[in-house]
Amino acid sequence: MRRRVLFVMLGAVAAIIGSPPALGRTTAEAACRPAQRGGHRTPRDRENFTHGQVVAMLADLRRRLAGQRVRLDGPIVVPVRFHVIASADRGRLTPAEVNAQIATLNRAYSTATLSFRLVSTDLTTDSDWFEHPQLYDRAIKSQLSRGGPGTLNLYTAAVGTDVLGFSTFPQAYRASPGIDGVVIDYRTLPGGETPHFNRGDTAVHEIGHWLGLFHPFQNGCQAPGDGVDDTPYEAGPTQGCPSFKDTCPQPGTDPVHNFMDYAYDDCMTGFTAGQGELIHAVWLAYRAK
Ligand SMILES: [Zn+2]
Repeated sequence: MRRRVLFVMLGAVAAIIGSPPALGRTTAEAACRPAQRGGHRTPRDRENFTHGQVVAMLADLRRRLAGQRVRLDGPIVVPVRFHVIASADRGRLTPAEVNAQIATLNRAYSTATLSFRLVSTDLTTDSDWFEHPQLYDRAIKSQLSRGGPGTLNLYTAAVGTDVLGFSTFPQAYRASPGIDGVVIDYRTLPGGETPHFNRGDTAVHEIGHWLGLFHPFQNGCQAPGDGVDDTPYEAGPTQGCPSFKDTCPQPGTDPVHNFMDYAYDDCMTGFTAGQGELIHAVWLAYRAK
């Protein structure tokens, strides 16, 4: 494998930052990917950050990495604690379904030199937690979460009334370690019931946030976008499965097939090299402890 070393420099983003990052609730949690009700798309999530928040988060990353090298040659292996929350008769995933999700993650992140290793699976039967995972978020995580900043606590429940999943960002770990993790709708796993969103890519997308990636349409056509050089600017989220769109004047067409956009699962094909580099930089800054 070709050895790649990313020198993280204090760049233009850091130069324009004027205040320390505000890592409040909005920063800590990102609810993502639309659910569909009656064929009508709900208007997305509560997660897109303000321009100032994104600038502050990217600047915080660069400050933490100042003088450090981010090595891209060695794989990151992420231990996964898989927490299945279920009712008496719904959401009770089988080991085969859990393993299929882990396999999907490993295929998706292979180009980012990152892999996932399932270290435990537990089942909790609680119909309130199952039906309202956002409402009981802190209670669920305080009881089930295991490990430190480098352990992925992945929860499944019936999330999908208006969103399909939600995630915390690594920048929020220090202030709110107790709610770190990713929650996805159990019907989005490979072979699940959610039309167009049942190939396991909701977990891929949400874990992208857990690893520090923003949506490619973050900030629309305004710099710094998502902070990644090789994801062209995009005015808004991609819906459905278009083969092409170009919504910003900057070079490049919209990254409609990127895992961090909102297209259907079968239209999502990959991460960019720049996203992989950002993941490794973020890992070094916030999760490699
Ligand atoms: Zn998202």
